[in-house]
Amino acid sequence: MQKLLGVRDDFPILSGNLVYLDNAATSQKPACVTDRLMRYYQEENANVYRGGYRLSRQSTDSYRIARKSMENFLEAESGGSVIFVRGATEACNLAAAGFCRRYLRPGDNIVVTELEHHSNLLPWLEQCRMRQCSLRIARAQEDGGLPARRVTELIDERTRLVAVTAMSNVTGVCPDLPAIIEAAHRRKAAVFVDAAQAAAHTELPAKELDYDFLCFSGHKVYGPMGSGVLYGKRKFLDEMEPVFFGGGMVEEAGTENVLYKSVPEKFEAGTPDVAASLGLETAVQYLGKLGRKEVRAYENQLAGYLRESLEKLNGIRILGPEGLTGPVLSFVSDRLSSYDIGMMLAMKNIAVRSGAHCAHPYMRRLDARGACRVSLALYNTRQDIDFLCAGLKEILHDTGKS
Ligand code: PMP
Repeated sequence: MQKLLGVRDDFPILSGNLVYLDNAATSQKPACVTDRLMRYYQEENANVYRGGYRLSRQSTDSYRIARKSMENFLEAESGGSVIFVRGATEACNLAAAGFCRRYLRPGDNIVVTELEHHSNLLPWLEQCRMRQCSLRIARAQEDGGLPARRVTELIDERTRLVAVTAMSNVTGVCPDLPAIIEAAHRRKAAVFVDAAQAAAHTELPAKELDYDFLCFSGHKVYGPMGSGVLYGKRKFLDEMEPVFFGGGMVEEAGTENVLYKSVPEKFEAGTPDVAASLGLETAVQYLGKLGRKEVRAYENQLAGYLRESLEKLNGIRILGPEGLTGPVLSFVSDRLSSYDIGMMLAMKNIAVRSGAHCAHPYMRRLDARGACRVSLALYNTRQDIDFLCAGLKEILHDTGKS
């Protein structure tokens, strides 16, 4: 934990009295990331691939190195490739369109879980609709938990892919990825992991976990908005057709025949957001220097303290089960709407998020129309949680546990 001491000083936006507890929506950026963006635009800006001059070659090299850094971040070594995208939503759409076009035949099915953010639900739903395939939903328990069995029992010989979150953006529940991946592979189904929430908090070693696809958004791992990663095993990516078409992804184009570049360029049509990818590279290097294990241990401790502290309040219900969860937690009040609580906390300069969190099926399972979500990052402290709970006590007119 030593390395995390003084870490708040790296985040200029936290220098005032903001209590920022909305990290599942987006994390704040350390100065090294914003400096990297500035340096790129002030000293290095040029389009990639297409120029022989120094700046363009330098930009192309930096972009390629950033891609390697992402592969290192995922401990992917040579088994797969990283495609840069604008975020997890784009990654899910790209993977769904590319994978389903190549591998889905009428009568096949795809398995998703009820925990999914709409970004990892709707692209698969739409593909299944278009292709006369069925989408099977692994239902969560009433308490929000999802034992692996609920997913694995849906997988059969017509299942082509299982799409599963690594961490719920509502309750922080982390499905048992190794068990799900093992069962899917036994039935020759691929696995797509949505790591939008997990990537900032836990390691996701590609080689060890053996998922086939994984995505995350850069802006939730201390990187810039508009950055993100879709990782895929080469055996799939090589076989899949491009999804977006345009400049930069073509070896040779005629009006009738086109020869596309190989992976990853064939999936990255048009000018990429080079600065965003370089900023993301800086962000993951920053995380790496702090130590991902240290960050995970610290955040888990803090998440325990958050739960304990909220449990002491009267009149709120915490959604989701205890254990096997990340540092994301939602609650509902028996008196006030989540919007009212969010607004009243905002007046105290405490940032949380209210609503259905783009996870309507899961919220229905949890019997909640809206919830207040508190989500932690490496720069949060016990003091932040104490402020939150003191604020909530006032708002809820709570006079202590009876
Ligand atoms: N999946 C999960 C689990 C998420 O929490 C989010 C963002 N809230 C997304 C996907 C989509 O990420 P983005 O909006 O950055 O594309």
